Amino acid sequence: MNVSELARRLRINPKKMLEILPEFGFDIGAKAVKIDDRVANQITREWKRINRTLERREQEELEKQKELEKQNRRESGIELVIPNKITIRELAENMNIPVNKLMIELMKNGILASQNENIDFDTASIMAEELGFTVKQKDDVVEDDSNEEHLEGLEKALSEGNKTKRAPVVVVMGHVDHGKTRLLDAIRSANVIAGEAGGITQHIGAYQVNWENKKEKSLSDGSQEKSALTFIDTPGHEAFTVMRSRGAKVADIAILVVAADDGVKPQTLEAIEIIKAAKLPVVVAVNKIDKESADPKRTRTELSGYGIVTDEWGGDVPMVDISAKENINIDKLLDTLLIVADMNEDSIVADANRPAAGTVIEAHVDKGEGPVATVLIQTGTLKVNDPIVINGEIYGKVRAMKDYKGEDLKNAGPSTPIRILGFKVTPSVGDVLDVSSKEGAKNIDVKNKRAEASGAEKHTLVISNDSDDEENKTKALNIVVKTDVLGSLEAIIASLSKIKNDEVQVSIVSKGLGNITADDVARAESSGAVVYGFNVVATPVAQDAMSEKNIEFVQYKIIYDLIDDVTDRLEKLLSAEKITTELGKLEIKAVFRTEKNKTIAGGLVVSGKIWTGEKARVIRGGKIEGVGKIEKLQIGQQVEKKVPEGSECGIEFKGKAQIEKGDIIEVYKEEEKKKELILDK
Ligand code: GDP
Repeated sequence: MNVSELARRLRINPKKMLEILPEFGFDIGAKAVKIDDRVANQITREWKRINRTLERREQEELEKQKELEKQNRRESGIELVIPNKITIRELAENMNIPVNKLMIELMKNGILASQNENIDFDTASIMAEELGFTVKQKDDVVEDDSNEEHLEGLEKALSEGNKTKRAPVVVVMGHVDHGKTRLLDAIRSANVIAGEAGGITQHIGAYQVNWENKKEKSLSDGSQEKSALTFIDTPGHEAFTVMRSRGAKVADIAILVVAADDGVKPQTLEAIEIIKAAKLPVVVAVNKIDKESADPKRTRTELSGYGIVTDEWGGDVPMVDISAKENINIDKLLDTLLIVADMNEDSIVADANRPAAGTVIEAHVDKGEGPVATVLIQTGTLKVNDPIVINGEIYGKVRAMKDYKGEDLKNAGPSTPIRILGFKVTPSVGDVLDVSSKEGAKNIDVKNKRAEASGAEKHTLVISNDSDDEENKTKALNIVVKTDVLGSLEAIIASLSKIKNDEVQVSIVSKGLGNITADDVARAESSGAVVYGFNVVATPVAQDAMSEKNIEFVQYKIIYDLIDDVTDRLEKLLSAEKITTELGKLEIKAVFRTEKNKTIAGGLVVSGKIWTGEKARVIRGGKIEGVGKIEKLQIGQQVEKKVPEGSECGIEFKGKAQIEKGDIIEVYKEEEKKKELILDK
């Protein structure tokens, strides 16, 4: 087998492979071109082990280098001046480190944001100090064109007015497969059982339930007064994280779902970090207690190791054992949520008698209805015909509003999620709607906004259910990407969205957290995608399906490696560039004989040299008449391989073109050059 073939199979650079093999007992020579098949197979078998060692080494090397860089920075004593607010990209540039690296550092600290987003001085300085920089704050005036200004506006709106109690907004978080979706469904149907208007609720990004509040007074008919709860209907902390990365605050209470048969898992930890950072009151739903392998006590013990201590043990976190599948204790969970809401009643308030302000929690383009978005009203009341003022721009006018039951509303008050029709352009998740800021708001530049939106797809993980129909001529590398934690997924998606140019781009057909499943494989198959696993493996079923269907599956542990792999594949998609080098030209003075596919003629070499064996084209009046080859060259009786400028010669031209006196025969070389991926800004 060829060395290059083996290297390709092992997904390593051939040179590097030859370099490292001796160390693992395969001395096949530093310049080997071929390799014995038996040895190659042996290497393939051992590759996993070798690769692990290499990865570990690389990791150690990286750590060492990081430490060294830190040391150097510290010793240099150079001060890094950071303004009040700085985009992640600018900060990375100022620190002279790759932006990805900074994003990963931020991620480790629970901050998920794209490179164009602003972080404040405190965050920036913590990051910089962690990397060894000495930091100084720049005294600057805050100039602002980001979401922040509008978030401040929203915060102001929320703090103003005559405030009364509103429904608490609840978000459900937890590890994949621990039962978030099932729980959201169970809560929805619990409401139906409780006698609320039933029927099919629509997934608009949030829904509401009415639940008997034990604390409220009994009504005259003996029943209890009901309290509404609003649930963000996007399971997982993706929606929440996207909103939070933009600074939005929508939830009042979090439900942390932990499966009692599985315990604390990476995304559980990530959720805990998010909950802590947002200072959200939390209720733990210890799920799947119907399972025999469930161990709710162990789950509590594990959680306590991360500072989430059950109130049964003297901590401050209520925990409810539930089964979302068997509908066990869903009522108890709802009761508990209302108790927690009561304990936090001072902050769960709003003023219904003012213009509405809220946050976009879902947005997409509907085939029939155009741009639609679900907004969670956080204060005030939104009315039909109100201007839709998003981040200080008028996006349209409220044409109609529907609640999660699909019913038309004329007014929507605090904590109500509503789907709004009337947008000219789709907003982004996390955008702020504030009707009171209509004075001075400009009408949105529709064309500009659309271009912007289609260019850099914002990292809104929650949207994009619709496939991009506007996909045009660019060739796409379809990929499925799964990661262990959301942080990595976001970082990968953010990096991938940047690798594209006019000709090629990455198209993520499916993304998510957790191991590769049969579902992922099915998606990969239907789109011919490559499957990427980052710190995850494939389930045995998925593994078999991939081998059977010849779907490529690659695993990485380092983000840059994954990105490199994608870039490589994109480069292969680029059509090769043809480079033509002119060798010489001959002018035809006389045509002696014309046969089918062959012409014998005489001429003068007017430039360069003409050669036998190379490609030749016939040019007449500046236009190419045909392409062929010079089979034979003769000066007098002497056969030549090449004839220089200024010489007269006879030629035998092979090719269909009809050659005439006065034609120019141009001899040229054609090479294919692989294009390199030049990234779009
Ligand atoms: P998510 O990824 O957290 O949204 O999890 P899902 O709600 O999709 O649930 C993952 C799997 O666990 C599904 O097959 C559910 O049917 C199952 N599941 C969810 N809750 C329970 C439960 O209480 N008991 C049992 N036995 N299975 C459950």
